[in-house]
Amino acid sequence: MNGEPIDLAIIGAGPAGLSLGALLRGKPDQKRLGARFQIFDRKQSFSWHADQDFAHSKMLSSVLRDLVTPVEPTNEFSFLQFLHQNGRLAAFMNRGVMLPSRSEFAEYLSWCAGQLKEVSWSSEVSSLSITSDGNFWRIGIKDCLTEETSSTLARHAVLCTGWTPNTSDIEYPDCQQVFHSSKFWTRYSGIPQGSRVAVIGAGQTAAEIILHLLGDKRRIAEVLWFDSNPSPRLLNLNHFVKEYFTHEYGQTFWGRSSEARAKVLAKDRSVSHGISGAMFAAIYERLYRNTYHDGGPRLRTRFLTQVTRIAQENNALTIASQSSDANKCDIVDAVVIATGFRNEHTLLDQVAISGRHRLNFDCSVSTGKDHKAKLFVLNANFDEFGLGDGALSTIPGRAAAVLNAMDLGFRIEATPQELLVDW
Ligand SMILES: Cc1cc2nc3c(=O)[nH]c(=O)nc-3n(C[C@H](O)[C@H](O)[C@H](O)COP(=O)(O)OP(=O)(O)OC[C@H]3O[C@@H](n4cnc5c(N)ncnc54)[C@H](O)[C@@H]3O)c2cc1C
Repeated sequence: MNGEPIDLAIIGAGPAGLSLGALLRGKPDQKRLGARFQIFDRKQSFSWHADQDFAHSKMLSSVLRDLVTPVEPTNEFSFLQFLHQNGRLAAFMNRGVMLPSRSEFAEYLSWCAGQLKEVSWSSEVSSLSITSDGNFWRIGIKDCLTEETSSTLARHAVLCTGWTPNTSDIEYPDCQQVFHSSKFWTRYSGIPQGSRVAVIGAGQTAAEIILHLLGDKRRIAEVLWFDSNPSPRLLNLNHFVKEYFTHEYGQTFWGRSSEARAKVLAKDRSVSHGISGAMFAAIYERLYRNTYHDGGPRLRTRFLTQVTRIAQENNALTIASQSSDANKCDIVDAVVIATGFRNEHTLLDQVAISGRHRLNFDCSVSTGKDHKAKLFVLNANFDEFGLGDGALSTIPGRAAAVLNAMDLGFRIEATPQELLVDW
């Protein structure tokens, strides 16, 4: 066991874990600064979706939806503060852009992570259990470099472990040429020149990959685009549904009946599943140029088609699929599975909560027992907080609610923000 118990163990140093750290350290407030916490992450150093970052990748949310601003605009970890400290605020404002590139946002997140001395990199949390008196969480940690294990006690724990790549509906061989979109850049260099590449899925990431492939005429000969819908869908980013991406909407959603919540989740998928208008325009423009001017890769669409199996024979890959017309078979050199992410909580499963877990209003886990030590889950809870959960913008509000539920001797006083739609 490593030393004295800490107040709070944060598992994962992505935006959710960093937001908690930023709220604890980004304000000159003695009570907050007294909180003892540690953020554990299995990565060796900070990165944010680096394997899926393209030159054309833009944030889908405003710069004001950073780690702190929605609840605490004066916090030192804001995006504006990042711009200012790096001498770019004036130039950034002159551009008149509210959606920065993803690489600039990653740079901001890295700047935040670099200021939090409480982050332990290469530290994978491999087990989580409660002490017999119910007062502490025992956090089992594996050093990813040395494989050594240790443990620490914490009064409370927050799971900020993010999402897991989703490839579950497709049978595919374990080989270099078939990979999930989250490994794009790592695997792309292995794709030989003149390749035919298939992309499965029609979300924003799939579209970004298609745009990239269509622009790489040296390496790519042909792109095949598979999706089970008759055509790719437009991401619904209208002003009304933008309210989904607020902490306040999430709380309203939480209060609805489970039937109503299930209905919204089933009927409103266009809010989280689809492609932005700007990305459609860019792909169509690229197709036009490839066809009439530049002679770049061709696009073959396989819509209304469900990929069932990918098989490898020598160096070629055979894609078996079912469309409404017939069963089909395509031969390609590489396949990118861009079917998104799923919510998997392996650590939560270890604490033996039976059935589907139900989170409380403050993101704490209902264990059914009166333990002093609380466990929270941040940013992966569509069922409880709606389709906005999992996005950046809801994180600070939830992070503040989590900290306020911990009896740490301070409160983060965030003025509730009004919604204009009566959900
Ligand atoms: C390509 C892409 C672009 C996106 N763009 C936007 C956008 O523009 N706007 C928006 O609102 N949302 C966006 N999102 C959605 C969302 O904001 C991000 O997925 C965000 O990274 C989620 O933050 P997180 O901290 O919950 O999870 P993650 O960023 O996934 O971080 C989880 C961290 O936990 C660590 N970890 C996991 N398990 C363990 C363990 N057992 N022990 C130790 N460490 C562990 C991981 O290494 C990781 O660093 C995007 C998502 C993707 C994939």
